[in-house]
Amino acid sequence: MHIVLLGAPGTGKGTQAQFISKEYNIPIISTGQILRNISKETTNLGKKINKIITNGKLVSDEIIIEIIKNHILQHKCKNGFILDGFPRTIVQAKYLKSIGIKIDYIFEFILPKNIILERIKQRKIDPKTGLTCKNLINFNKSSNNNPENTKKLQTRSDDRDEIVQKRLQEYEKNFVHLKKFYIKEFKNKNLEYYEINNLNEIKNINTKIKKIIKKYQNI
Ligand code: AMP
Repeated sequence: MHIVLLGAPGTGKGTQAQFISKEYNIPIISTGQILRNISKETTNLGKKINKIITNGKLVSDEIIIEIIKNHILQHKCKNGFILDGFPRTIVQAKYLKSIGIKIDYIFEFILPKNIILERIKQRKIDPKTGLTCKNLINFNKSSNNNPENTKKLQTRSDDRDEIVQKRLQEYEKNFVHLKKFYIKEFKNKNLEYYEINNLNEIKNINTKIKKIIKKYQNI
């Protein structure tokens, strides 16, 4: 099963990706996470990517396609995968199609901009795993309420207000074309496309996604 999660930064794609991954036992390929890991390396590529990310720009299609290719080909992806953050451009979407990946579902997460900004402001990452801690209450639970761990949480370098605005602009600019492309695929019955209002409670969205998948997969 191949699933693509679309939506602006901060719309909750990562949270739902983790739910879907556990529920259906398929891995998540998060290009943002992969790129953040590479950006920590002291290689030329690492430095280049770090500069792009911290400026709220998109990494070039050539670079990201080379990276994603290696992940898709991994053995763990043989039963499918969830793409979180890819494709971001029409070139990337066409690339996926050109290598014969049959996308089963696209979930587009939608949130008003003021809520996105608010959520991103609160977002922290665990520096060890690079994973996003949605909120401190959950993180405190998972870290056994150890205040030392909470202190270590970091804000993503690209989650600063002015950079978030740039990322949102970059997203919107490309998304118009991306959505057009996938709606056409949907009309041609090549995939299922669902818009998900992410203002709902997380568990309600989990249920909605499960229902949609059940409808088509007879699970
Ligand atoms: P994300 O965590 O998905 O918000 O991604 C963080 C940053 O990584 C983005 O702002 C881009 O700089 C870069 N990035 C992630 N995915 C892609 C992609 N598919 N194409 C280009 N750049 C990407």
